[in-house]
Amino acid sequence: MEPVKRIGVLTSGGDAPGMNAAVRAVVRSATGMGIEVVGIRRGWHGLVFGDFFPMTARDVSHILNAGGTTLYTARCPEFMTEEGQQKAVATCRLLGLDGVVAIGGDGTFRGALDLSRRGVPVVGIPATIDNDIGCSNYTIGFDTACNTAVGCIDRLRDTMQSHERCSVVEVMGRHAGFLALYVGIAVGATAVLIPERGYDFERDLAEPIRRSRLRGSTHFMVVVAEGVGSALDIGNEVRDKLGLDARVTVLGHIQRGGSPTARDREMASRMGYTAVKALSEGRGDLIVGTKDGFLTEIPIEEALQMKKNLQMDRYEVLQAMQR
Ligand code: ATP
Repeated sequence: MEPVKRIGVLTSGGDAPGMNAAVRAVVRSATGMGIEVVGIRRGWHGLVFGDFFPMTARDVSHILNAGGTTLYTARCPEFMTEEGQQKAVATCRLLGLDGVVAIGGDGTFRGALDLSRRGVPVVGIPATIDNDIGCSNYTIGFDTACNTAVGCIDRLRDTMQSHERCSVVEVMGRHAGFLALYVGIAVGATAVLIPERGYDFERDLAEPIRRSRLRGSTHFMVVVAEGVGSALDIGNEVRDKLGLDARVTVLGHIQRGGSPTARDREMASRMGYTAVKALSEGRGDLIVGTKDGFLTEIPIEEALQMKKNLQMDRYEVLQAMQR
């Protein structure tokens, strides 16, 4: 095998805290192994349209603790076309890239599979606050987003308690309730609505609120994953059917920002190092993930087929706290 001389790194899809830490880990690890790194801006867009720059270990100083991504991120519909992918391959050939590290979510990995099928070795690193990547127990950004949401909800609770109101808080999670359930347990929510369970007003909202009222509570905290439905509609339902003073807060993009937690920085560093090591040893076309605390390397095609279900015993824990 020819030694790996130069690799590219990009961040793609929705941003997540810890993406910078992963880029730093890729650049520093590669530099240490004598491999040059090219930073590709705006995800696949940078490969298609030739937006890149050489990166040195110094270029990633002081980004370990920064939220967002200094490489920028973008959605790139052109990369989903034959012509766009040919252009991306041409950029890789022009730059002499022996591989690419792609940091992002599921969509990013579908792009990674296409590129690897065209002969460019790609290693993916899962980074999304939703934690909804099938091949990995953990995704970079989840811990930070949970802590951000918990901080916001703790503040909301102070005012809800003082005014004896019902707070309905929408957190991210279009298809998966990982964030909502984790956060719901951490803030002692009265009820948590997640897409995996569906939504029934009586079962999931009215009864938990009634039980809480009978225990003596006069304020209530409802956490809703965005995929369940509009928090505004749910707030109106609580007001109309239960007569409570319901206030709705949509946390939105607040959850995406902020300095990554220690867990996300540590995970990003390990995943970045592992990705470069794999490429340097001739292993491409895989996604780095975690299982039982260890890092895994799974072929992209297989990784994309994998499903990860929310552990419903977490829901039981939530209910056990509501006695
Ligand atoms: P998040 O889950 O945080 O939104 P993501 O990586 O899933 O992150 P997407 O917007 O779905 O975000 O995908 C990022 C980019 O990956 C897209 O803009 C597109 O360029 C590329 N991509 C997505 N799906 C495909 C596909 N089926 N084939 C090729 N490229 C794809």
